[in-house]
Amino acid sequence: MGQKLTARPPAIMKTLIGILLAAGIVLGGEPQTYNNPAPHPVVRIENTAPATAAPKNIILMIGDGMSLQHVQAAWLANGGTLNIMQCPVVGLSRTASASHTITDSAAGGTALASGTKAINKQLGLDPQGNKLDSLADWAKQRGMGTGIVTTKTVTDATPAAFYAHNPNRADEDAIALDLATGNIDVIFGGGAKHFTQRKDGRNLLEQISKQGRTIKLATPGHYGTPAERGDILRQTSLEAVSRLRQNPNGYFLMIEGAKIDLASHANNLPETIAEMLDFDRTAGAILAEAAQNGDTLVIITADHECGGLSILDGDPASRTVTATFATGNHSGIAVPVYAFGPGSTNFTGTYENTAIPAKIKQAAAASR
Ligand SMILES: [Zn+2]
Repeated sequence: MGQKLTARPPAIMKTLIGILLAAGIVLGGEPQTYNNPAPHPVVRIENTAPATAAPKNIILMIGDGMSLQHVQAAWLANGGTLNIMQCPVVGLSRTASASHTITDSAAGGTALASGTKAINKQLGLDPQGNKLDSLADWAKQRGMGTGIVTTKTVTDATPAAFYAHNPNRADEDAIALDLATGNIDVIFGGGAKHFTQRKDGRNLLEQISKQGRTIKLATPGHYGTPAERGDILRQTSLEAVSRLRQNPNGYFLMIEGAKIDLASHANNLPETIAEMLDFDRTAGAILAEAAQNGDTLVIITADHECGGLSILDGDPASRTVTATFATGNHSGIAVPVYAFGPGSTNFTGTYENTAIPAKIKQAAAASR
Protein backbone atom coordinates (compact mmCIF):
# COMPACT_ATOMS: atom_id res chain seq x y z
CA MET A 1 0.00 0.00 0.00
CA GLY A 2 1.30 3.41 -0.95
CA GLN A 3 4.49 1.96 -2.36
CA LYS A 4 4.35 4.20 -5.38
CA LEU A 5 4.21 7.27 -3.21
CA THR A 6 7.12 6.35 -0.95
CA ALA A 7 9.42 5.15 -3.73
CA ARG A 8 12.52 7.30 -4.21
CA PRO A 9 12.41 9.43 -7.35
CA PRO A 10 14.41 7.96 -10.26
CA ALA A 11 17.94 9.30 -10.76
CA ILE A 12 16.96 11.39 -13.78
CA MET A 13 14.18 13.03 -11.76
CA LYS A 14 16.64 13.78 -8.97
CA THR A 15 19.00 15.43 -11.44
CA LEU A 16 16.13 17.45 -12.86
CA ILE A 17 15.02 18.50 -9.38
CA GLY A 18 18.62 19.47 -8.59
CA ILE A 19 18.81 21.67 -11.68
CA LEU A 20 15.49 23.34 -10.87
CA LEU A 21 16.53 23.93 -7.25
CA ALA A 22 19.85 25.39 -8.41
CA ALA A 23 17.86 27.70 -10.69
CA GLY A 24 15.86 28.86 -7.67
CA ILE A 25 12.71 27.01 -8.65
CA VAL A 26 11.42 25.30 -5.51
CA LEU A 27 9.35 22.19 -6.11
CA GLY A 28 8.84 21.36 -2.44
CA GLY A 29 10.83 19.02 -0.26
CA GLU A 30 11.54 15.40 -0.87
CA PRO A 31 9.46 12.88 1.08
CA GLN A 32 10.78 12.18 4.58
CA THR A 33 9.89 9.15 6.67
CA TYR A 34 9.68 9.11 10.46
CA ASN A 35 9.25 6.12 12.70
CA ASN A 36 8.32 6.68 16.33
CA PRO A 37 10.02 4.14 18.62
CA ALA A 38 8.16 5.14 21.79
CA PRO A 39 4.44 5.99 21.60
CA HIS A 40 2.88 7.63 24.64
CA PRO A 41 -0.26 6.32 26.32
CA VAL A 42 -3.42 8.32 25.85
CA VAL A 43 -5.23 9.54 28.94
CA ARG A 44 -8.77 8.32 29.38
CA ILE A 45 -10.96 11.39 29.38
CA GLU A 46 -14.56 11.57 30.43
CA ASN A 47 -16.58 14.72 30.26
CA THR A 48 -17.88 15.28 33.78
CA ALA A 49 -19.77 18.50 33.07
CA PRO A 50 -22.41 19.18 30.43
CA ALA A 51 -20.82 20.63 27.30
CA THR A 52 -23.37 23.45 27.37
CA ALA A 53 -22.62 24.55 30.98
CA ALA A 54 -20.56 27.66 31.78
CA PRO A 55 -16.86 27.12 32.53
CA LYS A 56 -15.08 28.62 35.53
CA ASN A 57 -11.62 28.32 33.97
CA ILE A 58 -10.41 28.73 30.38
CA ILE A 59 -7.32 27.05 28.93
CA LEU A 60 -6.35 28.01 25.38
CA MET A 61 -3.69 25.69 23.96
CA ILE A 62 -2.01 26.95 20.78
CA GLY A 63 0.04 24.57 18.67
CA ASP A 64 2.00 27.15 16.69
CA GLY A 65 1.93 26.09 13.03
CA MET A 66 -0.29 23.07 13.74
CA SER A 67 -2.65 21.98 10.96
CA LEU A 68 -4.83 18.93 10.61
CA GLN A 69 -1.91 17.34 8.70
CA HIS A 70 0.33 17.85 11.76
CA VAL A 71 -2.29 16.30 14.05
CA GLN A 72 -2.81 13.37 11.70
CA ALA A 73 0.96 12.82 11.33
CA ALA A 74 1.26 12.70 15.13
CA TRP A 75 -1.70 10.31 15.30
CA LEU A 76 0.03 7.92 12.87
CA ALA A 77 3.35 8.21 14.72
CA ASN A 78 1.66 7.52 18.06
CA GLY A 79 0.12 4.27 16.86
CA GLY A 80 -3.31 5.58 15.90
CA THR A 81 -4.21 7.37 19.10
CA LEU A 82 -3.84 10.95 20.34
CA ASN A 83 -5.05 12.92 23.37
CA ILE A 84 -6.05 15.93 21.26
CA MET A 85 -8.38 13.76 19.17
CA GLN A 86 -10.35 12.80 22.29
CA CYS A 87 -11.95 16.23 22.33
CA PRO A 88 -15.62 15.71 21.45
CA VAL A 89 -16.12 19.07 19.70
CA VAL A 90 -14.23 20.14 16.56
CA GLY A 91 -14.39 23.32 14.46
CA LEU A 92 -12.32 25.06 11.81
CA SER A 93 -10.66 28.46 12.09
CA ARG A 94 -9.65 30.61 9.09
CA THR A 95 -6.37 32.35 9.81
CA ALA A 96 -5.84 35.23 7.32
CA SER A 97 -4.62 38.47 8.92
CA ALA A 98 -5.79 42.03 8.25
CA SER A 99 -2.89 42.47 5.83
CA HIS A 100 -2.10 39.03 4.37
CA THR A 101 -3.82 35.77 3.36
CA ILE A 102 -0.84 34.09 5.03
CA THR A 103 -0.69 35.35 8.60
CA ASP A 104 2.33 35.46 10.85
CA SER A 105 2.22 34.55 14.55
CA ALA A 106 1.90 38.17 15.71
CA ALA A 107 -1.29 38.82 13.75
CA GLY A 108 -2.52 35.25 14.35
CA GLY A 109 -1.91 35.53 18.09
CA THR A 110 -3.53 38.96 18.23
CA ALA A 111 -6.67 37.58 16.53
CA LEU A 112 -6.87 34.71 19.01
CA ALA A 113 -6.16 36.99 21.98
CA SER A 114 -8.33 39.98 21.12
CA GLY A 115 -10.86 38.94 18.48
CA THR A 116 -9.58 41.58 16.03
CA LYS A 117 -7.61 40.96 12.83
CA ALA A 118 -4.20 42.62 12.93
CA ILE A 119 -1.44 43.50 10.48
CA ASN A 120 1.39 40.95 10.15
CA LYS A 121 4.27 41.55 12.60
CA GLN A 122 2.06 43.75 14.85
CA LEU A 123 1.08 42.77 18.38
CA GLY A 124 -2.04 43.79 20.29
CA LEU A 125 -2.90 46.61 17.87
CA ASP A 126 -5.77 46.99 15.42
CA PRO A 127 -4.93 48.05 11.82
CA GLN A 128 -5.38 51.72 12.86
CA GLY A 129 -2.83 51.31 15.65
CA ASN A 130 -5.28 51.29 18.57
CA LYS A 131 -4.42 49.09 21.55
CA LEU A 132 -6.55 45.96 21.86
CA ASP A 133 -7.71 44.25 25.06
CA SER A 134 -6.79 40.56 25.19
CA LEU A 135 -8.47 37.57 26.81
CA ALA A 136 -6.04 38.10 29.70
CA ASP A 137 -7.38 41.66 30.17
CA TRP A 138 -10.94 40.32 30.00
CA ALA A 139 -10.12 37.64 32.60
CA LYS A 140 -8.54 40.23 34.92
CA GLN A 141 -11.65 42.41 34.69
CA ARG A 142 -13.60 39.40 35.96
CA GLY A 143 -11.19 38.90 38.87
CA MET A 144 -9.74 35.76 37.31
CA GLY A 145 -6.09 34.68 37.41
CA THR A 146 -4.00 34.73 34.22
CA GLY A 147 -1.08 32.71 32.92
CA ILE A 148 1.10 32.00 29.90
CA VAL A 149 3.30 28.95 29.27
CA THR A 150 5.48 28.45 26.19
CA THR A 151 8.55 26.60 24.88
CA LYS A 152 9.99 29.71 23.19
CA THR A 153 10.71 33.09 24.74
CA VAL A 154 7.73 34.43 26.69
CA THR A 155 8.21 37.63 24.66
CA ASP A 156 7.80 35.78 21.34
CA ALA A 157 4.83 36.71 19.18
CA THR A 158 2.17 34.26 20.33
CA PRO A 159 2.39 34.78 24.11
CA ALA A 160 3.14 38.50 23.59
CA ALA A 161 -0.19 38.90 21.77
CA PHE A 162 -1.87 38.33 25.14
CA TYR A 163 -0.21 41.25 26.95
CA ALA A 164 1.86 43.46 24.61
CA HIS A 165 1.13 46.34 22.24
CA ASN A 166 3.92 46.82 19.74
CA PRO A 167 4.04 47.39 15.96
CA ASN A 168 7.23 45.29 15.80
CA ARG A 169 7.17 41.74 17.20
CA ALA A 170 10.99 41.61 17.06
CA ASP A 171 11.31 44.30 19.75
CA GLU A 172 11.44 41.72 22.54
CA ASP A 173 13.11 43.99 25.13
CA ALA A 174 10.20 46.45 24.86
CA ILE A 175 7.74 43.54 24.90
CA ALA A 176 9.35 42.32 28.15
CA LEU A 177 8.61 45.75 29.63
CA ASP A 178 4.95 45.30 28.67
CA LEU A 179 4.98 41.96 30.49
CA ALA A 180 6.58 43.58 33.56
CA THR A 181 3.93 46.29 33.71
CA GLY A 182 1.07 44.00 32.68
CA ASN A 183 -1.37 41.67 34.37
CA ILE A 184 -0.18 38.09 33.72
CA ASP A 185 0.12 36.31 37.09
CA VAL A 186 1.99 33.14 36.11
CA ILE A 187 4.68 33.12 33.39
CA PHE A 188 6.70 30.03 32.39
CA GLY A 189 8.97 29.72 29.33
CA GLY A 190 12.28 30.93 27.94
CA GLY A 191 13.73 34.37 27.20
CA ALA A 192 15.47 35.42 30.43
CA LYS A 193 17.93 37.59 28.47
CA HIS A 194 15.16 40.08 27.65
CA PHE A 195 14.54 40.56 31.39
CA THR A 196 18.04 40.60 32.88
CA GLN A 197 20.50 41.52 30.09
CA ARG A 198 18.84 44.72 28.99
CA LYS A 199 20.24 47.94 27.55
CA ASP A 200 18.40 49.90 30.27
CA GLY A 201 20.11 47.77 32.96
CA ARG A 202 16.84 46.91 34.65
CA ASN A 203 16.11 43.50 36.19
CA LEU A 204 12.52 42.84 35.17
CA LEU A 205 12.47 39.38 36.75
CA GLU A 206 13.00 40.97 40.15
CA GLN A 207 10.36 43.61 39.41
CA ILE A 208 7.75 41.00 38.45
CA SER A 209 8.55 38.76 41.45
CA LYS A 210 8.29 41.71 43.85
CA GLN A 211 4.74 42.24 42.62
CA GLY A 212 3.85 38.76 43.91
CA ARG A 213 3.61 37.34 40.40
CA THR A 214 5.29 34.07 39.37
CA ILE A 215 7.87 34.10 36.57
CA LYS A 216 10.27 31.26 35.77
CA LEU A 217 12.36 31.54 32.62
CA ALA A 218 14.42 28.37 32.22
CA THR A 219 16.70 29.58 29.41
CA PRO A 220 18.13 32.88 28.04
CA GLY A 221 16.33 32.23 24.71
CA HIS A 222 14.04 29.50 23.37
CA TYR A 223 13.93 26.02 24.92
CA GLY A 224 15.84 23.25 23.14
CA THR A 225 14.32 20.31 21.29
CA PRO A 226 11.95 17.93 23.11
CA ALA A 227 14.89 15.52 23.55
CA GLU A 228 16.95 18.31 25.16
CA ARG A 229 14.26 19.92 27.30
CA GLY A 230 12.42 16.78 28.43
CA ASP A 231 8.95 17.04 29.89
CA ILE A 232 9.09 20.74 30.79
CA LEU A 233 6.05 21.92 28.79
CA ARG A 234 3.75 19.39 30.47
CA GLN A 235 5.28 20.05 33.90
CA THR A 236 5.12 23.83 33.74
CA SER A 237 1.58 23.72 32.31
CA LEU A 238 0.41 21.62 35.26
CA GLU A 239 2.29 23.88 37.69
CA ALA A 240 0.57 26.91 36.16
CA VAL A 241 -2.82 25.24 36.58
CA SER A 242 -2.19 24.35 40.22
CA ARG A 243 -1.05 27.92 41.00
CA LEU A 244 -3.93 29.53 39.12
CA ARG A 245 -6.49 27.23 40.75
CA GLN A 246 -5.87 29.16 43.99
CA ASN A 247 -7.92 32.02 42.52
CA PRO A 248 -11.56 31.48 43.61
CA ASN A 249 -12.80 33.36 40.52
CA GLY A 250 -11.14 30.96 38.09
CA TYR A 251 -8.40 31.62 35.57
CA PHE A 252 -7.38 32.08 31.95
CA LEU A 253 -4.26 30.19 30.84
CA MET A 254 -2.58 30.19 27.40
CA ILE A 255 -0.25 27.24 26.71
CA GLU A 256 1.83 27.29 23.54
CA GLY A 257 3.54 24.40 21.76
CA ALA A 258 5.72 27.01 20.12
CA LYS A 259 8.31 24.97 18.32
CA ILE A 260 5.99 22.91 16.10
CA ASP A 261 6.30 26.04 13.97
CA LEU A 262 10.11 26.22 14.08
CA ALA A 263 10.50 22.55 13.14
CA SER A 264 8.01 23.02 10.28
CA HIS A 265 9.83 26.13 9.00
CA ALA A 266 12.96 23.94 8.89
CA ASN A 267 10.99 21.24 7.01
CA ASN A 268 12.25 18.75 9.61
CA LEU A 269 9.67 15.96 9.85
CA PRO A 270 11.13 14.05 12.85
CA GLU A 271 11.42 17.29 14.87
CA THR A 272 7.95 18.43 13.79
CA ILE A 273 6.40 15.17 14.98
CA ALA A 274 8.46 15.16 18.20
CA GLU A 275 7.09 18.66 18.93
CA MET A 276 3.55 17.53 18.11
CA LEU A 277 3.85 14.53 20.44
CA ASP A 278 5.21 16.76 23.22
CA PHE A 279 2.25 19.09 22.72
CA ASP A 280 -0.14 16.13 22.77
CA ARG A 281 1.31 14.76 26.03
CA THR A 282 0.76 18.22 27.51
CA ALA A 283 -2.79 18.26 26.13
CA GLY A 284 -3.42 14.86 27.73
CA ALA A 285 -2.36 16.13 31.15
CA ILE A 286 -4.46 19.28 30.77
CA LEU A 287 -7.53 17.39 29.53
CA ALA A 288 -7.25 14.86 32.36
CA GLU A 289 -7.10 17.66 34.95
CA ALA A 290 -10.02 19.43 33.29
CA ALA A 291 -12.06 16.23 33.15
CA GLN A 292 -11.39 15.48 36.80
CA ASN A 293 -12.62 18.88 37.96
CA GLY A 294 -15.36 19.47 35.38
CA ASP A 295 -15.07 23.26 35.52
CA THR A 296 -12.58 24.06 32.75
CA LEU A 297 -13.12 24.77 29.06
CA VAL A 298 -10.11 23.58 27.06
CA ILE A 299 -9.60 24.89 23.51
CA ILE A 300 -6.79 23.39 21.43
CA THR A 301 -6.06 25.18 18.17
CA ALA A 302 -3.36 26.88 16.08
CA ASP A 303 -2.56 30.39 14.89
CA HIS A 304 -1.80 29.13 11.36
CA GLU A 305 -0.38 26.18 9.45
CA CYS A 306 3.38 26.00 8.85
CA GLY A 307 5.39 24.15 6.20
CA GLY A 308 2.55 23.09 3.90
CA LEU A 309 2.91 19.65 5.47
CA SER A 310 1.41 16.84 3.43
CA ILE A 311 1.13 13.19 4.49
CA LEU A 312 2.01 10.88 1.59
CA ASP A 313 1.85 7.58 3.42
CA GLY A 314 1.83 6.14 6.90
CA ASP A 315 0.94 3.19 9.05
CA PRO A 316 -0.29 3.43 12.66
CA ALA A 317 0.66 -0.23 13.26
CA SER A 318 4.36 0.52 12.67
CA ARG A 319 4.03 4.17 13.83
CA THR A 320 5.47 5.37 10.53
CA VAL A 321 4.74 8.60 8.66
CA THR A 322 5.96 9.63 5.21
CA ALA A 323 5.36 13.29 4.46
CA THR A 324 6.68 16.25 2.55
CA PHE A 325 6.69 20.01 3.00
CA ALA A 326 5.52 22.46 0.33
CA THR A 327 7.06 25.61 1.82
CA GLY A 328 9.48 26.92 4.41
CA ASN A 329 6.83 29.39 5.48
CA HIS A 330 3.25 29.38 6.73
CA SER A 331 0.34 28.40 4.49
CA GLY A 332 -3.24 29.62 4.27
CA ILE A 333 -5.25 26.50 5.15
CA ALA A 334 -7.81 26.68 7.96
CA VAL A 335 -6.70 25.06 11.23
CA PRO A 336 -8.63 22.74 13.54
CA VAL A 337 -10.19 23.86 16.81
CA TYR A 338 -10.68 21.10 19.38
CA ALA A 339 -12.85 21.82 22.42
CA PHE A 340 -13.55 19.97 25.64
CA GLY A 341 -15.56 20.69 28.75
CA PRO A 342 -18.28 23.15 29.74
CA GLY A 343 -18.97 25.64 26.93
CA SER A 344 -17.33 23.47 24.28
CA THR A 345 -20.42 23.26 22.05
CA ASN A 346 -19.82 26.90 21.04
CA PHE A 347 -16.85 25.81 18.93
CA THR A 348 -18.49 23.73 16.17
CA GLY A 349 -18.57 25.08 12.62
CA THR A 350 -16.25 27.09 10.39
CA TYR A 351 -15.37 30.62 11.46
CA GLU A 352 -12.66 33.30 11.47
CA ASN A 353 -9.93 33.03 14.14
CA THR A 354 -11.36 36.25 15.58
CA ALA A 355 -14.52 34.37 16.59
CA ILE A 356 -12.61 32.28 19.14
CA PRO A 357 -12.30 34.91 21.93
CA ALA A 358 -15.95 35.86 21.37
CA LYS A 359 -16.96 32.21 21.72
CA ILE A 360 -14.90 31.91 24.92
CA LYS A 361 -16.54 34.99 26.42
CA GLN A 362 -19.97 33.77 25.35
CA ALA A 363 -19.32 30.39 27.00
CA ALA A 364 -18.20 32.04 30.25
CA ALA A 365 -20.95 34.69 30.32
CA ALA A 366 -23.59 32.42 31.81
CA SER A 367 -21.43 31.83 34.89
CA ARG A 368 -21.78 35.38 36.24
ZN1 LIG B 1 6.18 30.57 11.91
